[in-house]
Amino acid sequence: MPRTPGVTDAAVPCAPDRPSRPPEVLESEWNDWRWHMRKRITSVKKAQRWLRLTADEEKAIEKSAGKYRWSVTPYYASLMDPDDPTCPVRQQAIPALGELVEFPGAEVDPVGDMFYRKTNRVVHKYPDRVIMLITEACPVYCRHCTRKFHTTDVGGSYFRDSEGESFTEDLRYIAEHPEIRDVLLTGGDPLSYRDGKLEEIVSGLRGIPTVEIIRIGSRFPVLLPQRITEDLCEMLARYHPVWLNTHFNHPKEITPESAGAVDRLLRHGIPVGNQTVLLRGVNDDVATMRTLMTELLRIRVRPYYLYHCDNVTGVSHFMTSIEKGWEIMEGLQGHITGFGVPQYVLTTRIGKIPIAQPCFTRTPDGLLLRNYRGEEMVVDDAVHPITEPDAR
Ligand SMILES: *Cc1c(COP(=O)(O)O)cnc(C)c1O
Ligand code: SF4
Repeated sequence: MPRTPGVTDAAVPCAPDRPSRPPEVLESEWNDWRWHMRKRITSVKKAQRWLRLTADEEKAIEKSAGKYRWSVTPYYASLMDPDDPTCPVRQQAIPALGELVEFPGAEVDPVGDMFYRKTNRVVHKYPDRVIMLITEACPVYCRHCTRKFHTTDVGGSYFRDSEGESFTEDLRYIAEHPEIRDVLLTGGDPLSYRDGKLEEIVSGLRGIPTVEIIRIGSRFPVLLPQRITEDLCEMLARYHPVWLNTHFNHPKEITPESAGAVDRLLRHGIPVGNQTVLLRGVNDDVATMRTLMTELLRIRVRPYYLYHCDNVTGVSHFMTSIEKGWEIMEGLQGHITGFGVPQYVLTTRIGKIPIAQPCFTRTPDGLLLRNYRGEEMVVDDAVHPITEPDAR
């Protein structure tokens, strides 16, 4: 895929390449998401077919085995640089020794999902919207997962033995709370379920008159875009309005396959947004983020959130400073179109809080404004009063 002119690719680590289907894999297999699920990489031996693992990576795979789940789809592995352990795709999916280091203040659930959990699957934190935890399964277990304790920690779980439980109680809770007009299916990755099971859930929600929009949070467009089949899209389109947010973290993840998955969703009327996590060593520089956001716009994905990395147990080594986030936001805002700029948020027990620095200061004469080039001007209080006239 050609890169955006005017954005320097030079600073972007691991220049994006086409994913490569190994010659012994049939095209029909490569295009079949079930084949990738069956062939997931779960051992050093299988990984060695794709990568030259470093001694540290091998050690991390071994040591984390009893602690964190690990699996990688052949598709996602094909995006990795086989020789470079700092490859941004590789770092998101290959265990690192940093996961096993204890960080001060790290918690398994810093955002309080468990505190706001009302039924087996419903987390009700904001009055008008809930998340519904569908499953703990994911095609790839991202090393930076904010729900690492639940998706990846072999000792942790939302569900223990209750994942198979019926959805009756969860749907009843939503029906009994008519203030809930927005339900976000998440997990784990909801699209890990087969279409029939998903349809049961989505149609169940559509049967509740007070549910206005259904949202799906899924990383399949990035980790295994072949999962986004015409059949799946047709099924979802029967229950509109349905929205989908995915999770691209690096321009390398934007491939013809992932662009195809996005196109299928969009052609079925499902708007696609993106949530990026700011990750040390993966995407914590302006050039990478600017390329990511402009490339997302090219495949018609709307950047939604840029998450500051949470201090989650096993994830803390990916954390950056908040100043790093500010630097990136300043490198986006005004430099690219406003709808290519995500909102920079910190997820907390009291919600997701926007933490970008304001581009203005209040002064006695009015607002002092600063643009993306650092130029300043004052908007006169006589022209745009800050306070209501009768309050002056
Ligand atoms: C993120 C989240 C939502 C959805 O938030 P939006 O800002 O509307 O995308 C809802 N409930 C919980 C518990 C969440 O963490
Ligand atoms: S796909 Fe999402 S839920 Fe699953 S491990 Fe990755 S970040 Fe976590």
